[in-house]
Formats: sequence, C-alpha cells, structure tokens
Amino acid sequence: MPVLVMKFGGTSVATLDRIKRAAKRVGMEVAKGYDVIVIVSAMSGKTNELVGWVNETSPLYDAREYDAVVSSGENVTAGLMALTLQEMDIPARSWQGWQVPFKTSSTHSAARIEEIPTENLNTKFAEGMQVAVVAGFQGISGEGRITTLGRGGSDTTAVAFAASFGAERCDIYTDVDGVYTTDPRISPKARKLEKISFEEMLELASLGAKVLQTRSVELAMRYKVKLRVLSSFEEPNEDAGTLVCDEEEIMESNIVSGIAYSRDEAKMTLGSVADRPGTAAAIFGRLSEAGINVDMIIQNIAEDGQTDMTFSCPTDQVARADKALTAAKSDRQIDFKDLLADTNVAKISAVGIGMRSQSGVAAKMFKTLFEEGINIKVIATSEIKISVLIDRKYMELAVQALHDAFKLENAS
Ligand code: ADP
Ligand code: ASP
Ligand code: MG
Repeated sequence: MPVLVMKFGGTSVATLDRIKRAAKRVGMEVAKGYDVIVIVSAMSGKTNELVGWVNETSPLYDAREYDAVVSSGENVTAGLMALTLQEMDIPARSWQGWQVPFKTSSTHSAARIEEIPTENLNTKFAEGMQVAVVAGFQGISGEGRITTLGRGGSDTTAVAFAASFGAERCDIYTDVDGVYTTDPRISPKARKLEKISFEEMLELASLGAKVLQTRSVELAMRYKVKLRVLSSFEEPNEDAGTLVCDEEEIMESNIVSGIAYSRDEAKMTLGSVADRPGTAAAIFGRLSEAGINVDMIIQNIAEDGQTDMTFSCPTDQVARADKALTAAKSDRQIDFKDLLADTNVAKISAVGIGMRSQSGVAAKMFKTLFEEGINIKVIATSEIKISVLIDRKYMELAVQALHDAFKLENAS
C-alpha cells in the first residue's frame, strides 16, 4: 500500500470537534487506499502551558525532565485521534515516540533525529492497522530518556516519517491554507503561493516564518519529500495548499517571493575591544560554549587599535550572553569597555531565488525603509536573502511597506 503522512498542528486538534474533523480527512485518504501515518501536535496552547509549569517549578530546570513534561501534550492528542478513528471503524493505533522507536540524540529540547526503524509500524500495517497515529515532537535517546525536537518540531517528525517510509507525500495541515508571501496575520495583502522552492522556504522558515519548522524543510529538501502545506478547515481538493518543491518545478521564479519577520531579536554591542587577531574567535567562542545562537555580526572600522563588535541573538538569550561575556572579561580572555543590549529590535527579511540574477533588490529594500522613516541598525545578506535589524515598533509597517514595494500582492 502507498503511504501518506498527514500532520495536524495544534489548532487543527485544539478541541474534540476539530479532532473529529481531522479524523474525517484521514478517513478520506484511507478510503483511497493509503496506509496513513498521522502526526499530531499537542492541542494549541498546551505546550506553552507545560513550558510555563516547568519554568515556574524550576527556572534552571533539568533538561531531561523539561522534555518529559513538554512532550506530554502530544500523547493526549495521539490517543484521542486513535480513539476518534476507531469510533469511525477505521483500525487505528497510537504510537508515542519511544514505541516506534523514534531514535534521537540526547541533546534535550533540540534533539537530532538518528533513526526511525519502520519495522514495528509496518508489521502492524501488514496485520490490518490502517492508520498509525504518532505523537509528534518527541523521541527517545540512546540513554532511554524522552527527548523533544524543539518548538514546532512536529513538522520535522512528519517529514522524517515521510522520508523513512517512502511516503507518496507529506501533508502539513495547519490554520492557514498554505505558505503566503508574508504572514497573513500581519498583512491583509499577503497572497498564497501555489508553489515555493525548498531553498526559499528554508530561508523564510529560518528567518521567522513559523508555518514550517526550519529542520523539516531541510529534511524534505535532502530526502526529496513531496511537502504540501494546507488548511485543515477548508474543504479538501487535490490542488489545495502550497507545494514546497524543487526550484526546477517552478516555471517563473519571483525576484522576491516572501517577507519574513522575527520579533524576538536582540542586538548586543561590545564597546572598545582590541583590534587584533583572536578577538572575534575569543568572543564568539565563549558565546558558542554558552549555547548562544548568534545571527548577524558587524565589526566597526578600528580606531587607535580599538573597535566595536555588534551581534544579534534571540531576546531570551541576552542574559546568558551577558553572563558569558562578563565571565570572559574577568578571566581576561577578552577585554571591552561596555556591553550594551538593545532588546527592542526585530529582523525583517526579503527572500527570493530571483535575487541571484537581479541586482538592485537591496537598494530597493533600503529606499523603501528610508521612505517610511525606518532606521536600519544591522544588515546581512546571502545569495537569496537580505535581512535588516530595525526598531521593533516599526516591524509591521516595514513588512507591509516591503510587501507593497516588491508588488507581492500580485504573486501566485
Ligand atoms: P501549527 O500549530 O499548525 O503548527 P503554526 O502556528 O506553527 O501552526 O504555523 C502556522 C502559522 O504560521 C500561521 O497561523 C501564520 O500566522 C504563521 N505564518 C508566518 N509566516 C507565514 C507565511 N509566510 N505563510 C503562512 N503562514 C505564516
Ligand atoms: N507542540 C509542540 C510545540 O508547540 C510541537 C509542535 O506543535 O510542532 O512546539
Ligand atoms: Mg507549527
């Protein structure tokens, strides 16, 4: 039997009624003759609540227990989905990560997938099970502890199953009917894209578009998984949603395909560091040891052997970065006069594979922001993206202005 993977996100399983609606959708695919692997998220809001409970109980929590707690939301929805399907006379069984077993590294809360043996599920499919409902987001480490894949990780669970089982397609059901030119919650002019390339989706996801977890796109690209994003609230049809596919499958690529934003950015500046070999290595070495996800970096022109070094990182890592750098200063590993943190910034990015062959995109982006009176604090570019750091209060204005400037309301 051909295999289909269907993933339902938090809003799609938020109530018993919604689970029923999702189960009906699964039933339609079973009727077409598929063995279906359903990946479920926790009910919407549940994982946030669990994370809150952990933080309140133990601010410097043991990561193994964090994973034990926050993975539990998916256990509930997996069981409920299996029961709902059984009520519809569809042979279904729930699977927690360890039962599969979904094997991962022991990097708790950011575990890497090591292996998904297909034997257990395939034996049950051969015995008549038609749907395996798998709890997303969770796995088991070599030490036998429960792990999680990082927030939004059920997308990655889904793509990993699709790759391991050679699924015909991996359908990601969510609360929007596809991938848009920007977050439809921010811009009413956002347009749904019929297709988007893996490369562009990868950039959009990593730059803040949370419709897919970045790692899920990475995996889909590597294993050539046919990936579709669609709404669980709309009537199904064959062409629904957005197909994430190879660049070659897209007839005409846009210069800019989408605008992404990331709200929770911070900018940190080390004032007056020595302009000599080894300074950057020492600063970023200490930050890396402290697990800080440094993103953009700028080093100013030196004067009198001194320079300023600025970098960006997620807002919730500022305290840890501050601690690591202050410790490095007391150890005399680095020296700086002051350390400033600006936690009121946001990152806005324009992404498009057409940028490879078109010049002037950066100029247009900067001019548009200038015309709105928005100051750019840091700039970073790659082959298919341009990102800027700006004051957070202008974030929505910037997204809308850039969406207009690149005429994305005409995209499809
Ligand atoms: P789920 O719970 O189904 O995993 P998420 O909340 O993780 O859903 O992701 C869906 C959300 O992603 C949408 O509600 C939307 O606000 C947001 N989003 C951000 N950027 C985009 C984009 N470019 N296209 C579509 N949705 C986007
Ligand atoms: N429930 C997890 C989260 O909220 C995983 C997911 O939904 O993808 O992050
Ligand atoms: Mg999600």
